[in-house]
Amino acid sequence: MRLAVNRPDRTGRGEGAWDVLCQCGDPACEQWVELTLAEYEALQAAGAPILAPGHRRERRPPVRGRARRLAEDAGALWSRAGRRLRRVGRRLGESRRR
Ligand SMILES: [Zn+2]
Repeated sequence: MRLAVNRPDRTGRGEGAWDVLCQCGDPACEQWVELTLAEYEALQAAGAPILAPGHRRERRPPVRGRARRLAEDAGALWSRAGRRLRRVGRRLGESRRR
């Protein structure tokens, strides 16, 4: 999926125009925002989302939610690995006693 499309200059200001996909975080949103390169760069530099008129950034972007779920999965794997290691350790201790 392309997030930005460069278009030939229509402004007559020699800047050209960019169509940038709205970054409100709504998976159903397919609004394109028309920006000049200068506007686009200013928003990027400010770390501001590019939003279609009337759209608001969702408080929890889906990408961050997925990252947290991945971290929780990793935590579960680690505790499972820890239990398995302790079991192996006990078995090693038993075999040494024999
Ligand atoms: Zn949107």
